[in-house]
Amino acid sequence: MKIGVYPGSFDPITYGHIDIVKRALKVFDKLIVLVSTNPHKETMFTKDERIDMIRHALEGCLDVVTIDTNDTLTVHRAKELGATHIVRGLRALTDFEYEFQMTHANRVLDKSIDSIFFMTDNRYSYMSSTTLKEIAQFNGNVEPFAPPYVLEKIRAKFS
Ligand code: ADP
Repeated sequence: MKIGVYPGSFDPITYGHIDIVKRALKVFDKLIVLVSTNPHKETMFTKDERIDMIRHALEGCLDVVTIDTNDTLTVHRAKELGATHIVRGLRALTDFEYEFQMTHANRVLDKSIDSIFFMTDNRYSYMSSTTLKEIAQFNGNVEPFAPPYVLEKIRAKFS
């Protein structure tokens, strides 16, 4: 069984993340969405809130997707979970530099775990959790960004 892990903050999950999950599921038999702690990012939602939103957003594919958490190095967690690859999404050239560094650092840490990248659909290439939160904060239209359940939760944060 081919297992991939898709790590990220998912603060909150957007249609861009969902698009990457769907693409990865064409390659992997099972995908583990790994809700990670990013030391450079302060999150708006708690880990449990983020997991709850992911579960709702990926309702239709929970037979092949599991959700897990990670407070350690991604490669170590990936190995523990029996994964062969780390899945990441690429939106634009700006993502490349960071992903390039992370991939090579991860290879130094454990060369048995490789990274695999999926380019998002054009419709989502401008989308990030940060942009979604900024637009929501000022009551803009966030419908194109994330499923209704996620939008409900984000509106509740700002109300
Ligand atoms: P991180 O803190 O690890 O960057 P994110 O939740 O921001 O966590 O992103 C997780 C992964 O999903 C990253 O590989 C990121 O590039 C990718 N991603 C985020 N938004 C999109 C999007 N709109 N389209 C494609 N990939 C995306």
